[in-house]
Amino acid sequence: MYPILVIGGGIAGVTAAVELAETGKEVVLVEKDPFLGGNVVKMHNYFPKLCPPACGMEINFRRIRNNRRIRVMTKSELLRVSGEQGNMTATIHSASRMVNDLCTACGDCVSVCPEERPDPFNYGFGTTRAVYRNHQLAFPQKYEIDASYCKGTACSKCVEACSYEAIDLSAQLVEEELKIHSVIVATGWKPYDPSLIAGLNYSGSKDIVTNVEFERLLSVSGPGEGKLVRPSDGKAPGSIAFVQCAGSRDRNHLPYCSAVCCSASLKHALNITELLPGTKVTIYYIDLRVTGRNEDFLVRVENAKQVRLVRGKVGAVTPAEEGAGLLVEAEDIASQRREKEMYDMVVLATGILPANGVPGMQKNEEGFYAAVQPDGMYAAGCATRPLDVAATVKDVTGVALRAMH
Ligand SMILES: Cc1cc2nc3c(=O)[nH]c(=O)nc-3n(C[C@H](O)[C@H](O)[C@H](O)COP(=O)(O)OP(=O)(O)OC[C@H]3O[C@@H](n4cnc5c(N)ncnc54)[C@H](O)[C@@H]3O)c2cc1C
Repeated sequence: MYPILVIGGGIAGVTAAVELAETGKEVVLVEKDPFLGGNVVKMHNYFPKLCPPACGMEINFRRIRNNRRIRVMTKSELLRVSGEQGNMTATIHSASRMVNDLCTACGDCVSVCPEERPDPFNYGFGTTRAVYRNHQLAFPQKYEIDASYCKGTACSKCVEACSYEAIDLSAQLVEEELKIHSVIVATGWKPYDPSLIAGLNYSGSKDIVTNVEFERLLSVSGPGEGKLVRPSDGKAPGSIAFVQCAGSRDRNHLPYCSAVCCSASLKHALNITELLPGTKVTIYYIDLRVTGRNEDFLVRVENAKQVRLVRGKVGAVTPAEEGAGLLVEAEDIASQRREKEMYDMVVLATGILPANGVPGMQKNEEGFYAAVQPDGMYAAGCATRPLDVAATVKDVTGVALRAMH
């Protein structure tokens, strides 16, 4: 049997790869980024247990390291695919990370690299050198060189500093044709662009951030190293407002519910109660959609004295002078009053857009990959609809069963 091709190295793709390999199937795991983990490794911690994402992902990375049946191709994308389940041909395009498997992640290259780049892993909060790893537990455990910032052989300081001959600045793009059994597409999601939502003024202040940026601001591997501060002046925020459904359930933006934003904001409110017990939190919502075990959060948040839940959609966020606060205007449906409140920070709970980008895949009316695909192709995880991690893992496990027959 030919290997099963898995596209996307987030929790869905990684789960598919390890589960298939542990039943004895050969797997090729293709990820477009230099490191695996997708959106989950960017989280500060994750519901329902509020554990750091590294603990779940580390176990999966160990399962990959220990299983010779999994071939991981980073910085790679599927260009073409043809055939029928059992006998398919795929063409994969790979860019070089310019760092090979001899890398021990010692970091000697980083200390001599003169080039700085904005850090996309932290959504531009902070910088890294051109040679970098996203965080200490990033997998594969080797560096990557961002070719758009590296001066190449005109500099070569990293090559001279590396004692392991792990850096090759002349490495080229490669294209490879593979015989495969089937394809699982687990390309996940990307955040909705908040600057498209007029009135919420995302670009108007550094202190208006999105929920995914807030995860990085909370994280110990983020720019504040676990200390939550206001981006404009580095001070602890005294008050934070969460704007739910920023773009979701809105026919001008995303007509669907993004499913995880309510639980994410409740999680963020609990994170704040632990990190900054004096900070006042308000969550403005249309209705709070939490299911299963995540309802425990709702109860915990309802009982937290520093958190206020206001049923009402936010109409406008207006920045005063930078650092002087943000005016939030919303209709409080319970009291039928228009509320105007000043906050130090505003978090926009922006929704989930499908990442897509795989040739030959069918989409549904919401733009996600459809349930039925051409023979031998399967979509899984958040590529098919907004899902939390537990639902993603269940979904992809079922898909893996179909892809191996
Ligand atoms: C603010 C926020 C907080 C959240 N917090 C939680 C939480 O606490 N608990 C929880 O259970 N869920 C949470 N979620 C949901 C969680 O992020 C998703 O369930 C999870 O990311 C789904 O995993 P996935 O693998 O399907 O997608 P992703 O995590 O998006 O992974 C997809 C992978 O595919 C790669 N990829 C994309 N396109 C291509 C391509 N063309 N070729 C190759 N590779 C590609 C991407 O680079 C990425 O590595 C949260 C979501 C949000 C928005």
